[in-house]
Amino acid sequence: LTQLFRPLDMLGMVYRTVRQGLIDMAEMFALVDTPMEVSDAPGAPALVITRPTLRFDRVRFGYDPDREILKSLTFKVEAGERVAIVGPSGAGKSTIARLLFRFYDPTAGRILIGGKDIKTVTQQSLRAHIGIVPQDSVLFNDTIGYNIAYGREGATRSEIEAAARGAAIADFIESLPDGYETEVGERGLKLSGGEKQRVAIARTLLKNPPIILFDEATSALDTRTEQDIMRTIRAVAADRTTLTIAHRLSTVVDADRIIVLEGGQLVEQGSHAQLLAEDGLYAEMWARQASEAPAASEAAE
Ligand code: ATP
Repeated sequence: LTQLFRPLDMLGMVYRTVRQGLIDMAEMFALVDTPMEVSDAPGAPALVITRPTLRFDRVRFGYDPDREILKSLTFKVEAGERVAIVGPSGAGKSTIARLLFRFYDPTAGRILIGGKDIKTVTQQSLRAHIGIVPQDSVLFNDTIGYNIAYGREGATRSEIEAAARGAAIADFIESLPDGYETEVGERGLKLSGGEKQRVAIARTLLKNPPIILFDEATSALDTRTEQDIMRTIRAVAADRTTLTIAHRLSTVVDADRIIVLEGGQLVEQGSHAQLLAEDGLYAEMWARQASEAPAASEAAE
Protein backbone atom coordinates (compact mmCIF):
# COMPACT_ATOMS: atom_id res chain seq x y z
CA LEU A 1 0.00 0.00 0.00
CA THR A 2 2.85 2.36 0.84
CA GLN A 3 4.24 1.69 -2.63
CA LEU A 4 0.92 2.71 -4.07
CA PHE A 5 0.83 5.96 -2.19
CA ARG A 6 4.40 7.02 -2.77
CA PRO A 7 3.72 8.44 -6.25
CA LEU A 8 0.73 10.25 -4.81
CA ASP A 9 2.94 11.72 -2.10
CA MET A 10 5.35 12.85 -4.77
CA LEU A 11 2.51 14.36 -6.71
CA GLY A 12 1.35 16.12 -3.57
CA MET A 13 4.81 17.53 -3.09
CA VAL A 14 5.06 18.75 -6.67
CA TYR A 15 1.59 20.23 -6.38
CA ARG A 16 2.53 21.99 -3.17
CA THR A 17 5.70 23.40 -4.65
CA VAL A 18 3.89 24.63 -7.73
CA ARG A 19 1.14 26.06 -5.59
CA GLN A 20 3.62 27.80 -3.31
CA GLY A 21 5.15 29.37 -6.41
CA LEU A 22 1.76 30.38 -7.66
CA ILE A 23 0.68 31.80 -4.36
CA ASP A 24 3.87 33.86 -4.13
CA MET A 25 3.09 35.21 -7.55
CA ALA A 26 -0.56 35.77 -6.88
CA GLU A 27 0.38 37.35 -3.58
CA MET A 28 2.81 39.57 -5.34
CA PHE A 29 0.33 41.74 -7.13
CA ALA A 30 -2.61 39.57 -8.04
CA LEU A 31 -1.00 39.37 -11.45
CA VAL A 32 -1.97 35.79 -12.12
CA ASP A 33 -2.07 36.49 -15.84
CA THR A 34 1.43 37.97 -15.86
CA PRO A 35 3.36 36.17 -18.59
CA MET A 36 6.51 34.53 -17.32
CA GLU A 37 9.14 36.47 -19.15
CA VAL A 38 12.28 35.30 -17.49
CA SER A 39 14.04 31.99 -17.35
CA ASP A 40 17.00 30.69 -15.39
CA ALA A 41 20.39 31.03 -17.03
CA PRO A 42 21.67 27.59 -18.09
CA GLY A 43 23.40 25.97 -15.13
CA ALA A 44 22.47 28.88 -12.85
CA PRO A 45 23.51 28.23 -9.25
CA ALA A 46 21.29 28.83 -6.23
CA LEU A 47 21.55 32.21 -4.54
CA VAL A 48 23.80 32.02 -1.50
CA ILE A 49 24.44 35.20 0.46
CA THR A 50 26.12 36.19 3.68
CA ARG A 51 24.41 39.57 4.14
CA PRO A 52 20.93 40.44 2.88
CA THR A 53 21.78 43.71 1.17
CA LEU A 54 19.82 44.91 -1.80
CA ARG A 55 21.00 47.11 -4.61
CA PHE A 56 19.50 48.57 -7.75
CA ASP A 57 22.35 49.66 -10.00
CA ARG A 58 21.31 51.99 -12.84
CA VAL A 59 18.23 49.90 -13.53
CA ARG A 60 16.19 50.71 -16.60
CA PHE A 61 12.92 49.03 -17.37
CA GLY A 62 9.72 49.42 -19.35
CA TYR A 63 6.80 47.04 -19.87
CA ASP A 64 6.68 48.28 -23.45
CA PRO A 65 9.83 49.11 -25.40
CA ASP A 66 8.59 52.60 -26.22
CA ARG A 67 7.70 53.59 -22.66
CA GLU A 68 10.43 53.51 -20.06
CA ILE A 69 9.11 53.23 -16.49
CA LEU A 70 12.33 53.05 -14.44
CA LYS A 71 14.98 55.45 -15.65
CA SER A 72 18.43 54.51 -14.45
CA LEU A 73 17.36 53.88 -10.89
CA THR A 74 20.10 53.43 -8.31
CA PHE A 75 19.65 52.78 -4.60
CA LYS A 76 20.90 50.48 -1.89
CA VAL A 77 19.31 48.92 1.17
CA GLU A 78 21.76 47.81 3.86
CA ALA A 79 21.36 44.54 5.73
CA GLY A 80 18.81 45.04 8.51
CA GLU A 81 17.70 48.41 7.17
CA ARG A 82 14.03 49.35 6.92
CA VAL A 83 13.39 51.33 3.76
CA ALA A 84 10.11 52.64 2.41
CA ILE A 85 9.43 53.65 -1.16
CA VAL A 86 6.91 56.41 -1.71
CA GLY A 87 5.89 58.46 -4.69
CA PRO A 88 2.92 59.52 -6.76
CA SER A 89 0.71 56.91 -8.33
CA GLY A 90 2.39 55.42 -11.39
CA ALA A 91 5.90 56.42 -10.23
CA GLY A 92 7.05 52.80 -10.50
CA LYS A 93 6.95 51.60 -6.88
CA SER A 94 5.30 48.25 -7.54
CA THR A 95 7.49 47.81 -10.61
CA ILE A 96 10.54 47.82 -8.32
CA ALA A 97 9.02 44.95 -6.35
CA ARG A 98 8.20 42.99 -9.50
CA LEU A 99 11.78 43.35 -10.75
CA LEU A 100 13.15 42.34 -7.37
CA PHE A 101 11.08 39.17 -7.47
CA ARG A 102 12.24 38.79 -11.05
CA PHE A 103 8.95 38.70 -12.87
CA TYR A 104 10.80 40.80 -15.42
CA ASP A 105 14.43 41.57 -16.12
CA PRO A 106 15.77 45.12 -16.38
CA THR A 107 16.54 46.32 -19.89
CA ALA A 108 19.78 47.77 -18.51
CA GLY A 109 21.54 47.81 -15.15
CA ARG A 110 21.61 45.18 -12.43
CA ILE A 111 19.73 44.18 -9.31
CA LEU A 112 21.91 42.64 -6.62
CA ILE A 113 21.06 40.74 -3.48
CA GLY A 114 23.98 40.16 -1.15
CA GLY A 115 26.16 41.39 -3.99
CA LYS A 116 24.90 38.77 -6.46
CA ASP A 117 23.17 39.73 -9.68
CA ILE A 118 19.73 38.13 -9.37
CA LYS A 119 19.75 37.33 -13.08
CA THR A 120 22.52 34.82 -12.58
CA VAL A 121 20.86 32.62 -9.94
CA THR A 122 17.81 30.35 -9.96
CA GLN A 123 14.48 32.06 -9.56
CA GLN A 124 13.44 29.53 -6.96
CA SER A 125 16.43 30.30 -4.72
CA LEU A 126 15.92 34.03 -5.26
CA ARG A 127 12.29 33.83 -4.18
CA ALA A 128 13.19 31.73 -1.16
CA HIS A 129 15.16 34.74 0.11
CA ILE A 130 12.25 37.16 -0.17
CA GLY A 131 9.05 37.05 1.85
CA ILE A 132 6.07 38.99 0.64
CA VAL A 133 3.36 40.49 2.75
CA PRO A 134 0.95 41.46 0.01
CA GLN A 135 -1.83 44.03 -0.16
CA ASP A 136 -4.46 41.39 -0.22
CA SER A 137 -3.57 37.94 0.89
CA VAL A 138 -4.73 34.78 -0.80
CA LEU A 139 -6.39 32.39 1.62
CA PHE A 140 -7.04 28.75 0.84
CA ASN A 141 -10.36 27.18 1.69
CA ASP A 142 -8.78 25.24 4.49
CA THR A 143 -8.00 25.70 8.16
CA ILE A 144 -6.34 28.82 9.47
CA GLY A 145 -3.47 26.62 10.69
CA TYR A 146 -2.95 25.27 7.17
CA ASN A 147 -3.03 28.78 5.78
CA ILE A 148 -0.17 29.78 8.08
CA ALA A 149 1.72 26.52 7.58
CA TYR A 150 1.86 27.30 3.92
CA GLY A 151 4.86 29.48 4.62
CA ARG A 152 7.04 26.43 5.00
CA GLU A 153 6.82 22.79 4.10
CA GLY A 154 6.81 20.52 7.12
CA ALA A 155 6.31 23.20 9.79
CA THR A 156 5.43 21.78 13.19
CA ARG A 157 2.47 22.85 15.25
CA SER A 158 4.63 24.73 17.72
CA GLU A 159 6.38 26.59 14.89
CA ILE A 160 2.98 27.55 13.47
CA GLU A 161 1.89 28.80 16.88
CA ALA A 162 5.10 30.78 17.31
CA ALA A 163 4.57 32.42 13.90
CA ALA A 164 0.98 33.25 14.85
CA ARG A 165 2.25 34.84 18.07
CA GLY A 166 4.84 36.83 16.12
CA ALA A 167 2.11 38.11 13.85
CA ALA A 168 -0.11 38.91 16.86
CA ILE A 169 -2.93 36.71 15.69
CA ALA A 170 -2.49 33.81 18.14
CA ASP A 171 -4.95 35.18 20.71
CA PHE A 172 -7.59 35.64 18.03
CA ILE A 173 -7.10 32.08 16.74
CA GLU A 174 -7.16 30.61 20.24
CA SER A 175 -10.42 32.43 20.96
CA LEU A 176 -12.14 30.57 18.10
CA PRO A 177 -14.00 27.41 19.14
CA ASP A 178 -12.00 25.30 16.68
CA GLY A 179 -8.76 27.19 17.17
CA TYR A 180 -6.18 26.42 14.48
CA GLU A 181 -8.62 23.95 12.91
CA THR A 182 -11.09 26.72 12.06
CA GLU A 183 -12.04 26.65 8.40
CA VAL A 184 -11.45 29.97 6.66
CA GLY A 185 -11.94 31.23 3.14
CA GLU A 186 -15.02 31.22 1.00
CA ARG A 187 -16.88 28.48 2.83
CA GLY A 188 -15.50 29.15 6.27
CA LEU A 189 -14.90 32.04 8.57
CA LYS A 190 -14.47 35.32 6.72
CA LEU A 191 -11.42 37.15 7.98
CA SER A 192 -11.16 40.93 8.07
CA GLY A 193 -8.52 42.75 6.02
CA GLY A 194 -6.32 43.14 9.10
CA GLU A 195 -6.66 39.48 10.08
CA LYS A 196 -5.79 38.36 6.57
CA GLN A 197 -2.70 40.55 6.66
CA ARG A 198 -1.70 38.97 9.95
CA VAL A 199 -2.06 35.50 8.43
CA ALA A 200 0.26 36.68 5.65
CA ILE A 201 2.74 38.00 8.22
CA ALA A 202 2.62 34.69 10.12
CA ARG A 203 3.19 32.80 6.87
CA THR A 204 6.19 35.00 6.13
CA LEU A 205 7.56 34.52 9.65
CA LEU A 206 7.40 30.80 9.14
CA LYS A 207 9.21 31.08 5.82
CA ASN A 208 11.80 33.18 7.70
CA PRO A 209 13.36 34.95 4.72
CA PRO A 210 16.20 37.45 5.24
CA ILE A 211 14.44 40.03 3.07
CA ILE A 212 10.81 41.06 3.44
CA LEU A 213 8.79 43.03 0.99
CA PHE A 214 5.69 44.69 2.36
CA ASP A 215 3.23 45.80 -0.21
CA GLU A 216 1.07 48.05 1.86
CA ALA A 217 -2.66 47.84 1.37
CA THR A 218 -3.92 50.68 -0.78
CA SER A 219 -7.35 50.53 0.73
CA ALA A 220 -6.92 51.91 4.19
CA LEU A 221 -7.55 49.68 7.16
CA ASP A 222 -9.06 51.64 10.01
CA THR A 223 -6.44 53.75 11.77
CA ARG A 224 -6.26 51.56 14.85
CA THR A 225 -5.87 48.33 12.90
CA GLU A 226 -3.27 49.99 10.71
CA GLN A 227 -1.28 51.11 13.75
CA ASP A 228 -1.50 47.61 15.25
CA ILE A 229 -0.32 46.04 12.03
CA MET A 230 2.51 48.55 11.74
CA ARG A 231 3.65 47.68 15.24
CA THR A 232 3.65 44.02 14.32
CA ILE A 233 5.54 44.72 11.13
CA ARG A 234 8.14 46.75 13.01
CA ALA A 235 8.73 43.82 15.35
CA VAL A 236 8.93 41.36 12.44
CA ALA A 237 11.29 43.68 10.59
CA ALA A 238 13.63 44.08 13.54
CA ASP A 239 16.47 41.89 12.30
CA ARG A 240 15.62 41.71 8.62
CA THR A 241 16.11 43.84 5.56
CA THR A 242 12.74 45.27 4.64
CA LEU A 243 11.41 47.20 1.74
CA THR A 244 7.92 48.66 2.02
CA ILE A 245 5.97 49.82 -0.98
CA ALA A 246 3.98 52.53 0.73
CA HIS A 247 0.81 54.01 -0.62
CA ARG A 248 0.09 56.10 2.46
CA LEU A 249 2.68 58.28 4.12
CA SER A 250 1.33 57.67 7.61
CA THR A 251 3.01 54.28 7.64
CA VAL A 252 6.53 55.34 6.62
CA VAL A 253 7.25 57.99 9.22
CA ASP A 254 9.63 55.83 11.23
CA ALA A 255 11.37 54.02 8.38
CA ASP A 256 15.18 54.20 8.57
CA ARG A 257 15.11 55.75 5.14
CA ILE A 258 12.43 56.86 2.71
CA ILE A 259 13.08 56.76 -1.01
CA VAL A 260 10.96 59.16 -3.01
CA LEU A 261 10.30 58.10 -6.55
CA GLU A 262 8.85 60.24 -9.28
CA GLY A 263 8.52 59.29 -12.92
CA GLY A 264 10.76 56.25 -12.43
CA GLN A 265 13.58 58.25 -10.88
CA LEU A 266 14.82 58.66 -7.34
CA VAL A 267 14.23 62.31 -6.54
CA GLU A 268 14.87 62.43 -2.79
CA GLN A 269 15.88 60.14 0.05
CA GLY A 270 16.27 60.47 3.78
CA SER A 271 14.41 60.11 7.05
CA HIS A 272 10.95 61.61 7.49
CA ALA A 273 12.41 64.60 9.37
CA GLN A 274 15.18 65.14 6.80
CA LEU A 275 12.73 65.03 3.93
CA LEU A 276 10.36 67.46 5.61
CA ALA A 277 13.29 69.83 6.14
CA GLU A 278 14.24 69.49 2.48
CA ASP A 279 10.86 70.91 1.62
CA GLY A 280 10.64 69.05 -1.69
CA LEU A 281 8.21 66.54 -3.16
CA TYR A 282 7.93 64.48 0.04
CA ALA A 283 7.13 67.55 2.14
CA GLU A 284 4.54 68.54 -0.43
CA MET A 285 2.96 65.06 -0.45
CA TRP A 286 2.96 65.04 3.36
CA ALA A 287 1.25 68.42 3.57
CA ARG A 288 -1.32 67.40 0.98
CA GLN A 289 -2.08 64.10 2.67
CA ALA A 290 -2.36 65.72 6.09
CA SER A 291 -4.84 68.26 4.81
CA GLU A 292 -6.86 65.68 2.87
CA ALA A 293 -7.03 63.07 5.59
CA PRO A 294 -6.60 64.26 9.15
CA ALA A 295 -6.54 60.58 10.19
CA ALA A 296 -3.23 60.16 8.37
CA SER A 297 -1.38 62.71 10.49
CA GLU A 298 -3.04 61.43 13.63
CA ALA A 299 -1.94 57.95 12.72
CA ALA A 300 1.64 59.15 12.58
CA GLU A 301 1.64 60.20 16.23
P1 ATP B 1 0.50 53.04 -7.41
O1 ATP B 1 0.93 53.82 -6.23
O2 ATP B 1 -0.66 53.67 -8.09
O3 ATP B 1 0.31 51.58 -7.14
P2 ATP B 1 3.14 52.58 -8.59
O4 ATP B 1 4.12 53.65 -8.28
O5 ATP B 1 3.25 51.33 -7.82
O6 ATP B 1 1.67 53.18 -8.52
P3 ATP B 1 3.58 50.92 -10.91
O7 ATP B 1 2.52 49.94 -10.63
O8 ATP B 1 4.99 50.52 -10.69
O9 ATP B 1 3.29 52.29 -10.15
O10 ATP B 1 3.41 51.38 -12.41
C1 ATP B 1 4.30 52.28 -13.08
C2 ATP B 1 3.83 52.49 -14.48
O11 ATP B 1 3.91 51.26 -15.21
C3 ATP B 1 2.37 52.96 -14.60
O12 ATP B 1 2.32 54.00 -15.53
C4 ATP B 1 1.63 51.75 -15.11
O13 ATP B 1 0.63 52.15 -15.99
C5 ATP B 1 2.69 50.97 -15.85
N1 ATP B 1 2.44 49.52 -15.73
C6 ATP B 1 2.33 48.83 -14.60
N2 ATP B 1 2.14 47.52 -14.85
C7 ATP B 1 2.13 47.38 -16.19
C8 ATP B 1 1.99 46.28 -17.09
N3 ATP B 1 1.81 45.02 -16.62
N4 ATP B 1 2.02 46.54 -18.41
C9 ATP B 1 2.21 47.79 -18.89
N5 ATP B 1 2.35 48.87 -18.09
C10 ATP B 1 2.33 48.68 -16.77
